[in-house]
Amino acid sequence: MSNSRLEIRNLSLKFGDRVAADNINLVLEPSQVTCLLGPSGCGKSTTLRIIVGVEPQDSGEIYVDGDLICNGLVTTRPEYRNIGMMFQDFSLFPHLNVLENVAFGLRGSRASRRLRSESLLERVNLSSYASKMPHELSGGEQQRVALARAVAPRPKIMLLDEPFSGLDDRLRDNIRDETLKVLREDGAAVLMVTHSPSEAMKMADEIALMRNGKIVQKGTPYTIYNSPTDCEAAAFFGDINIMVSSVDKSLVQTPFGEFFAPGHADGTMLDIIIRPQHIRIDFDRAGQGPSPTDAMGQAARATVYRARFLGQISIIDFKLEDGTILTASVPSVFLPKVGMPFWLLAPRKHCYVFPK
Ligand code: ATP
Repeated sequence: MSNSRLEIRNLSLKFGDRVAADNINLVLEPSQVTCLLGPSGCGKSTTLRIIVGVEPQDSGEIYVDGDLICNGLVTTRPEYRNIGMMFQDFSLFPHLNVLENVAFGLRGSRASRRLRSESLLERVNLSSYASKMPHELSGGEQQRVALARAVAPRPKIMLLDEPFSGLDDRLRDNIRDETLKVLREDGAAVLMVTHSPSEAMKMADEIALMRNGKIVQKGTPYTIYNSPTDCEAAAFFGDINIMVSSVDKSLVQTPFGEFFAPGHADGTMLDIIIRPQHIRIDFDRAGQGPSPTDAMGQAARATVYRARFLGQISIIDFKLEDGTILTASVPSVFLPKVGMPFWLLAPRKHCYVFPK
């Protein structure tokens, strides 16, 4: 039995031949934000719909505070699960004003319901709209009311399915931060769906990276970004450089020297990956030839192939002596001319080696 706020074990669901959820395991703790991150169609919304109880799973169990709420035999109806959900497609009750909409799901005295609703309207900057009707509000304002309404009953668990995506950038950041702050303060466990890696990195305590119905990696934003489980996971968070090489006696040769590749048979093709911001220009040793193999690896000679100024950074494509093109991102104070020679470094700790 689990003491976590929400525990999901071995959850699976197929639509015909299509596997929408494939053996999902997740644990959510109070005041913690977990982001379910993945490309369109990978099964994020389906997972949320199973948890909230509107889509039955083929197999697997869900526990809330250690109590089984559904498996093949037991099913607690959605309204008794104490799980709040906020979708992108929300709807307000058209016949109730803004304050009444927010107060709708609240219990207790009239005064306490009013107090809670007013404080939430203040937090989403809509205090002056309390007596307005939904049709008098813009789409973004309606969405903020819907968020206040979803948060109002202090759900133990809150599922958010991209509810902020209809708002403009600045408003989205404010409303999202404020909503998550309220939920954290109330001790809710939050599961938030997004296909945006940068949103997940900003908001999540833990990211669960999903692909083809499976969770392929779980961890803090730092871990997921710095220790990707495979090439696709690395690429999901931004551009990557890939160098290809075959294994010989547990070693692969690259322009940056040898890399240790234990556990791979001779002849296996491997991808050696490095992100553009991790490539270093070796100004100190410029022109002095390759450095010895150490944590920084061996320096590789390269010439500038293309250089682009992007404001805060410059993106430089370098051509190595073997013809490989590597992209580096550097502070934009640096914008070299095409053809200029440099020595590059690929620090070992930022290189990932995966089977091709
Ligand atoms: P998006 O980010 O685009 O919303 P998602 O990751 O939330 O995508 P889901 O909506 O969970 O993905 O869908 C997962 C897969 O299951 C998709 O291939 C989808 O076409 C399929 N699917 C979802 N709901 C149904 C359904 N009711 N009947 C048949 N197939 C479905």
